[in-house]
Amino acid sequence: MSLDRFGRNINYLRISLTDKCNLRCVYCMPEDMTFRPRAELLQDDEIYRLVNIFAELGFHKFRLTGGEPTVRANVVGIVRHIAQTPGVKTVAMTTNGLLLDHLARPLAEAGLSRVNVSIDTLNPEKFHKITRWGKVEDVWKGLDAAVAAGLDIKLNAVVVRHYNDREDAVNLARLTLTKPWQVRFIEMMPFGDVADFQQAGVVPEEELRATIAAELGPLELVDDGRLDGEARLYRLAGGLGTIGFISSVTQPFCASCTRARLTADGRLRLCLLREKEVNLLEPLRAGASDTEMKAIIEEGIWWKPWGHKLAQEVIPLNRVMSEIGG
Ligand code: SAM
Ligand code: SF4
Repeated sequence: MSLDRFGRNINYLRISLTDKCNLRCVYCMPEDMTFRPRAELLQDDEIYRLVNIFAELGFHKFRLTGGEPTVRANVVGIVRHIAQTPGVKTVAMTTNGLLLDHLARPLAEAGLSRVNVSIDTLNPEKFHKITRWGKVEDVWKGLDAAVAAGLDIKLNAVVVRHYNDREDAVNLARLTLTKPWQVRFIEMMPFGDVADFQQAGVVPEEELRATIAAELGPLELVDDGRLDGEARLYRLAGGLGTIGFISSVTQPFCASCTRARLTADGRLRLCLLREKEVNLLEPLRAGASDTEMKAIIEEGIWWKPWGHKLAQEVIPLNRVMSEIGG
């Protein structure tokens, strides 16, 4: 078990497989983003070794993210290896879905159980605008393939004022009437150079719930408001799916946080919204033993920060979202 100094049991690792992406969502990275050379990123065998060490430290839930995890070479082999590591219970992925058309089945066969697919609007023109060049029909093809492959599905939508905070959000919420999916609305978080844009565009959960309820009827709280991961869930009357709100900015869920993150360049990031990181790549490449690596990781986890400090204008500047993985 890996405890931090506040008594939180940290057992969920989100691994960024690459900082690269086949889209350039406006809230995530600049259009002219420069990416790290491959040699600076964790290699497959380095990921396997770290996963094994984390699993021995009690981590059992793993999520692959990015950048876009499906653009990483050998993503299927990586999933297979992680899923077969002793101690690992679930392997999930957060993806923009564009490549799932071909990859959903092999990923499911390799041991992936769940995909969270990001789709901010169902409107083709707006989707193109938010992602800078994506085609929403490619996401739908990916979703169809994920359903056919038997993957459990959640949809993620980052809500951006004046882009998708009204009829687009309502149309996404409406999907839960006919699909057994969880559609989750994420409050936009500020990072690095794009923080001004992000902060100006945050739509608080309460406002969004009111917008959805005005069009689709009351939202019934699910499970008395207990969080499902980071999301508080609601249901529309008669709906097959649920609507989740991930409100990291206005209603942080730090007390129940069980997460740590591994960036594509091998840094252990202890909190999404704080700059604190521990370099794991360097000791790994310098020949540290498993025991030494465990000590470095445990020390980092012990000092995991409590909560963001956005209200005090402390914004993480050292990375943009695509480098951390969400
Ligand atoms: N490329 C994959 C995807 O888009 O799902 C995985 C990586 S992406 C960084 C992970 C999640 O973070 C996505 O759901 C994305 O919409 C979300 N995201 C990106 N930038 C964000 C921001 N500034 N605030 C909140 N969520 C953000
Ligand atoms: Fe790429 Fe995902 Fe960031 Fe969009 S949110 S640019 S798909 S990493």
